[in-house]
Amino acid sequence: MEDKRVTRRDFLLRVGALGLAGLGGSALLSACGGGQQQQQQATPQPSAASADTAAAASAELTCTDVSGLTPEEIQMRESLEYTDHSPYPDKTCSNCQLFIPPENPNQCGACQLIKGPIHPNGYCTSWVQKTT
Ligand code: SF4
Repeated sequence: MEDKRVTRRDFLLRVGALGLAGLGGSALLSACGGGQQQQQQATPQPSAASADTAAAASAELTCTDVSGLTPEEIQMRESLEYTDHSPYPDKTCSNCQLFIPPENPNQCGACQLIKGPIHPNGYCTSWVQKTT
């Protein structure tokens, strides 16, 4: 009959092996994901200069090409008096709830209401304050 009692020596050997496995796991996790935190911290934050560049690029952007739209879509755009340059400094497409921002700040966005390219500094009579 086999003696299944664990000796003090066996116990310490097993605990030691688990401890080493834990350290190895920690090192492995650190190698896989630990650097991510450092990488996030190293990501450059937008500077005032890049914000100025983005604003300048936005000012030069035109979003008036309606060549791909149907006559009805163009009429809707006109009836809502869409313009690339908002007459109200505090009411622009970029702070409208219906605006769909572009992936790149040098591109036109879109709108949930009217079709065609939409300028972030644009405006139409259906402007709605962005809440989220
Ligand atoms: S609803 Fe008008 S103001 Fe709002 S994003 Fe569309 S076009 Fe711009």
